[in-house]
Amino acid sequence: MKPVKRSKIEIAKKPRGVEGPGFFAGKLEEIVGLARANSLWPLPFATSCCGIEFMATMASTYDLARFGSERLSFSPRQADLLMVMGTIAKKLGPVLRQVYEQMAEPKWVLSVGACASSGGIFDTYSVLQGIDRIIPVDVYVPGCPPRPEQIIEGILKIQELAKNESLRRRESPEYKEMLNSYGIE
Ligand code: SF4
Repeated sequence: MKPVKRSKIEIAKKPRGVEGPGFFAGKLEEIVGLARANSLWPLPFATSCCGIEFMATMASTYDLARFGSERLSFSPRQADLLMVMGTIAKKLGPVLRQVYEQMAEPKWVLSVGACASSGGIFDTYSVLQGIDRIIPVDVYVPGCPPRPEQIIEGILKIQELAKNESLRRRESPEYKEMLNSYGIE
């Protein structure tokens, strides 16, 4: 009989704080950040081959559920992580932008693969040369296609952002200015 492998999954570290029997007191910002980072609800906007890599990322071998993100949302109103995977034709641009705008704050965007990030090999009149021309992107995952490990690394980077983000960031003038630069109010 084969020996059972020990799991390498680590429990998320709790934030700094004061604790005793039956209580834990910490900074609200850090506790909210911990909760957000470990319960990201992705909306997979998959249009072509990179989407297949995402399916592998969700399946049993890579199992995105280990990072608290198994609950996919196909409604922008119930998602906080927009994952764009695949070639985005210019005609599809307004749809992608509408999906982004319908997501509530706080929200993050992960651009998966060369096509979503830069148009990839499709340097043509009909393909958007990177989704950051129409919506802000938080993390880019390179590759054509990126392997599931790379997609997971992208999610880990988003988790870091979510964990360390100030609760006031979304109200900040810098954030509003950035959205305004995309014509989003
Ligand atoms: S980056 Fe490569 S694998 Fe991904 S959608 Fe474009 S052509 Fe397909």
